[in-house]
Amino acid sequence: MVRWLDPVAAALDATPAPVRVFFRDDDAGWRDDRLRELLDRFQAHGLPVDVAAIPQALGPGMARELVARGVAVHQHGLAHANHEREGRKFEFGPSRSYDEQRRDIEAGRALLRERLDGRLEPIFTPPWNRCTRDTALCLADLGFEVLSRESRAEPLGVLRELPVSLDFVRLSPDELVQRFAAAEPPVGVMFHHAEMDARSRRAAAELLALVTGHARARPRSLLEAAR
Ligand SMILES: [Zn+2]
Repeated sequence: MVRWLDPVAAALDATPAPVRVFFRDDDAGWRDDRLRELLDRFQAHGLPVDVAAIPQALGPGMARELVARGVAVHQHGLAHANHEREGRKFEFGPSRSYDEQRRDIEAGRALLRERLDGRLEPIFTPPWNRCTRDTALCLADLGFEVLSRESRAEPLGVLRELPVSLDFVRLSPDELVQRFAAAEPPVGVMFHHAEMDARSRRAAAELLALVTGHARARPRSLLEAAR
């Protein structure tokens, strides 16, 4: 057992019921080399991972590879572009109308459907984990099933939401284990492969090994965890 993860193992040991865990990796389309390395880790452990792909960034080669690997892919905005003139970054933010947002979501979905030969999950992760109620209304109108942001975001009450509980890259090891142990199940772990160096990937592999081997952890795809 790896020591830094002992509190996570202890929290799992102590739960009265098995804990569903899911993994979301954002920004497919950027740093294909690092995406491959992370996907290899998941495959080595036989664990599901949901990849959020940027439609305008995902190249045809990587798209084919994701399909060949059988990875669950869903939409991550359109271009990962910020449209707000000030304040926090949003691709689907308060300065954009319902119609503008809907056009971008439809365009992104069409691109990904074509690249992935239709193998696209009915899930939307907005860039920077932020969007507005209009975004949720667009998604519901367009037949999306799940909106995934992060757990501090106020639910919009429009369609099913499955937020991630912890940001693997930005949290310190101590914060990570605390958040994992305290999270409401299902526990969603978010990765950003493009920002992960060798050390970060090693730490991720240790977490994956723990989840694979622990009798109380139930790894699920995002859609399974949401349903
Ligand atoms: Zn992103």
